[in-house]
Amino acid sequence: MQILDGKIASLSVKEQLTQEVQQLVAAGHRAPHLAAVLVGNNGASETYVASKVKNCAEIGFQSTLIRLDAAVSEEELLNTIRGLNADNNIDGILVQLPLPKHISEPKVIETISAEKDVDGFHPVSVGRLVQGLETFIPATPYGIMLMLEHYKIPTKGKHAVVIGRSNIVGRPMSILLSSNHPYGNCTVTICHSHTPDLAAVCRQGDIIVAALGKPEFVTADMVKDGAIVIDVGITRVEDATAKKGFRIKGDVSFDQVAEKASYITPVPGGVGLMTIAGLMKNTLVAYKRTLK
Ligand code: NAD
Repeated sequence: MQILDGKIASLSVKEQLTQEVQQLVAAGHRAPHLAAVLVGNNGASETYVASKVKNCAEIGFQSTLIRLDAAVSEEELLNTIRGLNADNNIDGILVQLPLPKHISEPKVIETISAEKDVDGFHPVSVGRLVQGLETFIPATPYGIMLMLEHYKIPTKGKHAVVIGRSNIVGRPMSILLSSNHPYGNCTVTICHSHTPDLAAVCRQGDIIVAALGKPEFVTADMVKDGAIVIDVGITRVEDATAKKGFRIKGDVSFDQVAEKASYITPVPGGVGLMTIAGLMKNTLVAYKRTLK
């Protein structure tokens, strides 16, 4: 079994990005600029946004964090996004999800300019992804593809089982793995909460992508020998013995599944770091389009 190490793979992506930014800046261009909007103060969202801002600084991107109160009106948030759309110094916009219940996420996503949609959630980005056109790929599935590429994991002809059908992970992941791409060309089964006998379906998977948000859900009996296991889940599980009062758990029972898998991603230290790498790559693409 080999660990697919998100630290190593994301560092390699970040090194390439850093070099490219240095060359662009040396040629007299401004640095790429990502704007992140954080509504309220959800603990996990705070952590994700802080990490994105820190990564921007590490690779030489500029970033702006806009914090809005949890009680902000939908219109006020939409106006903030419209302002960022119109700002020529901003290349990428991300609005950290989830949003408070009184705000429509689809409306927010559609208001972000498709040219600055570095999270890849806009219907234009998704439509282009489905059609195999160049686009902003949602950051988590993009990060997983970058991980497969880094470790040169052959995927052609394999049966991939994706658990979860969300717009941000499961659905785009299934599209990428089935597409005609060097790390695609899989036969894909997408499972969700209404899939009967999920364990039997999983056992057929040469590749399993677990993205359902249920800690340690995938157990060894659900995994065939030699499978490639990608764990997307991130759940905070209360633990009084931990410093912060919680531990981060993935969707895979790591210790038992690792004994059967050929490759496996750890949580933390796996897909989460690759997600940021995907976001940074999208931001550089958005920026480079403004130079043309
Ligand atoms: P979601 O709640 O939007 O979707 C979960 C999906 O899992 C749904 O499609 C649902 O049908 C399916 N599901 C739920 N219970 C199931 C069951 N018992 N059997 C089969 N399918 C089931 O979640 P999401 O936004 O896609 O996130 C999934 C997990 O990934 C969460 O833990 C989230 O925190 C994590 N996540 C991690 C990253 C990262 O960077 N590593 C990024 C995004 C999300």
